Amino acid sequence: MDAPSPPLLFGLSTVEACEPEPLARELEAFVAAGCTAAEISLQHSFTVRGGKVNTAEVTAIGQVLARFPLRYTTHGPLALNLMDADHHELHVGVAQASIEVAAALGSSVLVVHGGVWPNTKSF
Ligand SMILES: [Zn+2]
Repeated sequence: MDAPSPPLLFGLSTVEACEPEPLARELEAFVAAGCTAAEISLQHSFTVRGGKVNTAEVTAIGQVLARFPLRYTTHGPLALNLMDADHHELHVGVAQASIEVAAALGSSVLVVHGGVWPNTKSF
């Protein structure tokens, strides 16, 4: 017997400011377009500040998400750079806080880009 297939979802990524009013407008448009999922762009939010979870903002964003019949994934901050040795502790804090925010928002996936480093070698 085959394992059941996961549900097929259709979604878009948010691009506007991830604050309650613009987020609600965007999600309304996603639902009107037939989406069943949305990727919430945390890099446009204040849910993580200084490497810490901003609980008040997470609550506000979570209240908006709960209003829509969508499944959610999240995208972490694009500036996250785990290869930045000079600010490593801050980047790790941002990564850990982003994981906590994703979980608090009911996100089943958190997309992160691990980082970049300058290529100083010549070939
Ligand atoms: Zn990406």
